[in-house]
Amino acid sequence: MKYSELVELYGQLDSTTKRLEKTYYLSEFLKKTAADDIEPVILLVQGRVFPSYDERELGVANQLVVKAINVASGIASAAIEKEWAKTGDLGNVAEQLIKGKRQATLAAAELTVKKVFDNLRKLTELTGQGSVDRKLQLIAELLSSAKGAEARYITRTILGQLRVGTGAGILRDAIAWAYFPKAVEKVFVKCGSCHSTVPQADNCVECGKELSKEAKAAAAETEAAREEYNQILDKIQQAYDLTNDFGVVARKAKTEGAAGLEKVEIRIGTPIKVMLALKAETVEEALETVGRPAQCEYKYDGFRLECHRSKDKVWLYTRRLENVTHQFPDVVEYLRKYVKGDNYILDSEAVGYDPKTQKYVPFQNISQRIKRKYDIGKTARELPVEVNVFDILSYEGKNLTGEPFRKRRELIEKLVKDTERKIVVSKAIVTGSEAEIERFFKKAKADGTEGLMLKKLDAPYQPGARVGYMLKFKKVMENLDLAIVAAEWGEGKRAKWLSSYYLACRDHGHDKLLEIGKVSTGLKEKREEGLSFDEVTELLKPLVVEETGRLVKVKPKIVIEVAYEEIQKSPTYESGYALRFPRVIRNRTDEKGIGDINTIKDVERLYRQQKKMKA
Ligand code: AMP
Repeated sequence: MKYSELVELYGQLDSTTKRLEKTYYLSEFLKKTAADDIEPVILLVQGRVFPSYDERELGVANQLVVKAINVASGIASAAIEKEWAKTGDLGNVAEQLIKGKRQATLAAAELTVKKVFDNLRKLTELTGQGSVDRKLQLIAELLSSAKGAEARYITRTILGQLRVGTGAGILRDAIAWAYFPKAVEKVFVKCGSCHSTVPQADNCVECGKELSKEAKAAAAETEAAREEYNQILDKIQQAYDLTNDFGVVARKAKTEGAAGLEKVEIRIGTPIKVMLALKAETVEEALETVGRPAQCEYKYDGFRLECHRSKDKVWLYTRRLENVTHQFPDVVEYLRKYVKGDNYILDSEAVGYDPKTQKYVPFQNISQRIKRKYDIGKTARELPVEVNVFDILSYEGKNLTGEPFRKRRELIEKLVKDTERKIVVSKAIVTGSEAEIERFFKKAKADGTEGLMLKKLDAPYQPGARVGYMLKFKKVMENLDLAIVAAEWGEGKRAKWLSSYYLACRDHGHDKLLEIGKVSTGLKEKREEGLSFDEVTELLKPLVVEETGRLVKVKPKIVIEVAYEEIQKSPTYESGYALRFPRVIRNRTDEKGIGDINTIKDVERLYRQQKKMKA
């Protein structure tokens, strides 16, 4: 495939900000791309030559690109820099200058996608003596053969500035549109005017022209058609969650269709999107979702670490799939020493601890290790981590994501040799008893963790999904019932509502109310969805006693239940305390009068309890 064809696509993608148009252009392009060119094309439209999880970088300084333009165009570097300073875009400068001298090298070979891709990849392989000259040659060779806009896009790609706006959603949809036209045609309409594939409507979202009756009839959307289309998108997404490379996914889709997508396999060394957790407010709620009995595990306050091993090679990835193997030589060693087997993928949480006290420290204290490039050994000694293994995705060539969690857990218990403050299996109990979970929760907090994760015993591992297979449960504190004593009118689209509320508890033994914070989350914008701003505004309006600017004081009549993360000492409020991240749970005015709300004594008790748990 000629590089000029890809450049034409870049031009189309650059010409619009509309998602559907971009998807359309990309899908049309993919349709005509040969199987062998798909992976390079998909990477190049993202402005890369390796998938995002691969840490290899082009490593080309701006100055080297200037020099390469100099070699390719014969124009002095100083003049190039001057032009660059004027326009601010070295890609455009390259295009103009190289166009200018075109006559001289008319005979230059036409660039192909493969040639550009190969030269750019070679850039990443060069290090050491003479590598700068060799890099210069590789870039100059491309620029010398470049015609028209090709030089612009080559330059931008090398500088990491190719921003044609093709995010994950567009790539996924374009793969569906390109390779599953039957499913797509039933859902989308082909516009007769601009030829875009667009959603059903009177007018085309892209060009605004009316969509013809015939076009719409050809694509009469039904629930079944929508379902079929969504299933295709899901399959593409699932294949992507396993490979993290749309190039691999697109190639599979083209060559083997939907069945091929289903067969996409886990590869050791290639990161997989991790399974995510939902949040539960109460133990009861968590158990309802994951079922009884459930696995309850400590929720460590560290960072996710996906550990891959194939024989002697180890890869470590963060939750965002950044390769951090180099930053954690200690973890690499623990895996080699304390985990049986030489071919696996483990999911874990690495948590920092104080080397003197051996106590866990919050994530912020060790976060710098993730970005660290130098003095790695020293940092590892000063900021050690313990790896808490909680899942396994693959073992000795077998994909385990479809196995029930219970089985996966049994396996990690066999494989990991528990070695405190190095690598251990996460602390866990299996129970269906709320009381037992509450006790375990307190223990987890006392051991310096954030709370618990509750997991469904027979669940598979679903990469990339936030499904109800594991729930985090962090709440320490019982909710408080507090009175609203003042409120503020909102801003913007909330201007018609009293949208934040000052809360107060009762003084001990007096009727006096003591302010303890301000809350504005937990309420809904629409009544159908639960207690709404509008409803609370209606309740408060007749109670207003004073209004200054946006602030209104109200007679204390409305009692609400409030959840929060923590109670802090605070000079801001009369009570001497403030609630961290308060959230309205419900209106309790019908059940509770002002005499029934929580007192400052309750607040003090909860504050002490919380301190004890943290200690
Ligand atoms: P959050 O980041 O608050 O959504 O909580 C979910 C995160 O908790 C996961 O992504 C993990 O990084 C972390 N975590 C800590 N301990 C565990 C555990 N035992 N099981 C699963 N995830 C855990």
